Amino acid sequence: MNISLAGKTALVTGASRGIGRAIAIALARSGADIIFTYNSSPKDAEDTAAAIKAHGQAVQAIKTDVANEAAITSLFQSLDDSKIAIDILINNAGIIMEKSTLDTSGSDFDHLMGVNLRGSFLTGREALKRMVMRGDGGRIINISSDLGFLGRESFALYTASKGAINALTKSWALEFAPHILVNGIAPGPVDTDMLDINNMTPEWRQKEEQIPMERIGQPEEIAGLAVYLASEYSSFVTGQIYGVNGGSVMP
Ligand code: NAP
Repeated sequence: MNISLAGKTALVTGASRGIGRAIAIALARSGADIIFTYNSSPKDAEDTAAAIKAHGQAVQAIKTDVANEAAITSLFQSLDDSKIAIDILINNAGIIMEKSTLDTSGSDFDHLMGVNLRGSFLTGREALKRMVMRGDGGRIINISSDLGFLGRESFALYTASKGAINALTKSWALEFAPHILVNGIAPGPVDTDMLDINNMTPEWRQKEEQIPMERIGQPEEIAGLAVYLASEYSSFVTGQIYGVNGGSVMP
């Protein structure tokens, strides 16, 4: 399948590293121009931008804390000022927190939900506003997690944020049908800084690898589905949350 995203512009949040970076590069390889955000890793963001440029696509890296509403609205205002329209949004930026529920504070809750849920909501809202106004469709792809289905001890906040993102995906799919398609990707364990497999206890590592495919995934293995969901090949797909997870969840 030869997927072309030529003429499209994608916004990928949190693409300085990990899954976001792999998705941004894969979208560029298919011909999309890329705007991406990062929060605290300018050097990594430069590396992502260089990889995108190597595919001949236009790229802009913008430092934006997705939890900050003023920062998100100003990002979209600056895109409007430059007459850049977003055709594809990948809501990817996220953080994780391992903490027992009994030790979790209200500010832990606000911090994690601020990035994972509020960040996805605010970025999606601004992108959707413009897609609706333009009236020529659009794609939103929210990055969830297999843990949003499974739950996990000591990760209650993270898993709850991803369960909420699944609900947001379905609600947006209903609210913005038929022209704007909204789907989710729920990765299983993937080899990024977030998973930090090399610093895991042997017990946790075994748990991560105890899935049917007996290994963790690579960020590039998530990106292929994002490219498909951004393309014309998925023109009858909305409101779905796809596992890319080596078999960790089989709904
Ligand atoms: P990662 O390697 O830690 O990268 C996280 C990315 O998010 C970085 O680019 C980071 O930017 C950005 N980010 C963090 N906080 C931000 C904020 N406040 N505002 C804007 N950007 C922010 O994580 P990853 O593993 O690639 O995870 C990407 C997504 O996949 C997340 O939503 C995660 O929950 C999901 N996921 C991951 C796995 C896994 O096993 N890795 C499994 C399931 C789901 P800076 O570098 O600039 O801080």
